[in-house]
Amino acid sequence: MKKSFLVFGFCVLIVSVFAQDREQAEQFRLQAEQRKRAAIMQVLDSAVRFMENGEYAKADTKLVYVLNNVKSVPSDLTFYFGKNSFYLEKYKQSVDWLNKYIQLKGTSGQFYEEAIGILRKAEDGVLKARAQEAAKAEQVLSNAYDIDCGPSGKVVCPVCKGTTVVIKKGYINDQYQTCQYCDKHGNLTCEEYNALIRGELKPKNQ
Ligand SMILES: [Zn+2]
Repeated sequence: MKKSFLVFGFCVLIVSVFAQDREQAEQFRLQAEQRKRAAIMQVLDSAVRFMENGEYAKADTKLVYVLNNVKSVPSDLTFYFGKNSFYLEKYKQSVDWLNKYIQLKGTSGQFYEEAIGILRKAEDGVLKARAQEAAKAEQVLSNAYDIDCGPSGKVVCPVCKGTTVVIKKGYINDQYQTCQYCDKHGNLTCEEYNALIRGELKPKNQ
């Protein structure tokens, strides 16, 4: 009876010692985490300074580092990243992060006014970029088509501008050469003209 009581007491002691150890370990872990977070917040501060000095690419590197090294992204960071993205002309990214900031902080956020202002400009940027992309996709180049040269079937030679003479600028004297593409009247047939604009017309004497 006495012996089992002793064993019980010993167990209680061991459990409490372990509990103390665990607590200390936990505290140590928390402190380490706090130190790490403080170091990361310093990087964030330096990112903000770079941004304020107009060094947006440098600021971007720092901000991305912070994003990838914090457990949870502080709301201020969503604002700074959105703002810096705007200056880097990454408008879609800017809109995304600024919206996040406004969602997180509402109208009472420290940067609310500024966020709204930049957000509007970033949204304009997104629309413009989209329009530019659409214009690019619609670009149709003439050299993919056969051009109808009209009833005469002839075109004034674009190489010599119909003069039949090509002037090659020299150091001392200019050299005059007969145009290698057109006939003696300075004209091209329609077929030749189409070949020329596709870069397929061969010079006559070469
Ligand atoms: Zn010519």
